[in-house]
Amino acid sequence: MSIQTENQTITQNTEIVSADNPIIQIRDMTKVYGSDRAETHALRGISIDIYSGEFVAIMGPSGSGKSTFMNILGCLDRPTAGSYILGDEDVSELDLGDLAEVRNEKIGFIFQSFNLLPRLTALENVVLPMLYDARERWSADEKVKRAIAGLKSVGLEDRMDHLPSELSGGQQQRVAIARALVNEPVIIFADEPTGNLDTKSSYEVMVILKSLHEQGRTIVMVTHEPDIATYAQRVICVRDGLIVKNEGETPCR
Ligand code: ADP
Repeated sequence: MSIQTENQTITQNTEIVSADNPIIQIRDMTKVYGSDRAETHALRGISIDIYSGEFVAIMGPSGSGKSTFMNILGCLDRPTAGSYILGDEDVSELDLGDLAEVRNEKIGFIFQSFNLLPRLTALENVVLPMLYDARERWSADEKVKRAIAGLKSVGLEDRMDHLPSELSGGQQQRVAIARALVNEPVIIFADEPTGNLDTKSSYEVMVILKSLHEQGRTIVMVTHEPDIATYAQRVICVRDGLIVKNEGETPCR
């Protein structure tokens, strides 16, 4: 499939997914940090379904539990209680080693600070997730070809051999998007993806995320910027560890 955006063509081998299957099912999720004497109830009972092909924004004030929620959704941390089904797998009981495998196989991450490895070129950064993929789906040549195609799809074919320090913030985030997609994840988590970008680069990144959504990708994004949240189809508002709004496209106040 090929999608023409303002100044680039994004090409992905994307399955068109049905919007009928919840890709995420969360029930009564809680997260308590600390010990008996100094407990913080960061999540206080969250239940939600996110469907295949949705573009969801999570908003809420600082300290409301967004990062905690995102870390558990992204299998970087475990809930204290409650269930989390990702795709067809109950991941709430997995240990941290098994969660790492789930992350590599099912999840693409886009972070506010890009999180590229500084000593690797753009191309090497995009190849990396495939080297950690135990499924051995591609030969060494195919891995490089896939990474090149990914970088082309975000308009960076002429920057492949550059180190992150030789790229602008917007370019680094586009490398990170190519990296997030290269293992064909079932879901993409974007944590404040435009938080470190100027207006023009933010727009370019959001145009890419929007076109990925239009191709059928499932995207969950944390943002505190109402303008950025309007790119999503559904906005979930979190406050004091609870979901206080879970419908419509209006950014949270
Ligand atoms: P947000 O991302 O919305 O700013 P967080 O998920 O970071 O919110 O935090 C929610 C609550 O949990 C806050 O009260 C925060 O201080 C607390 N918290 C977050 N991480 C930890 C931690 N590792 N240990 C103890 N408390 C934490």
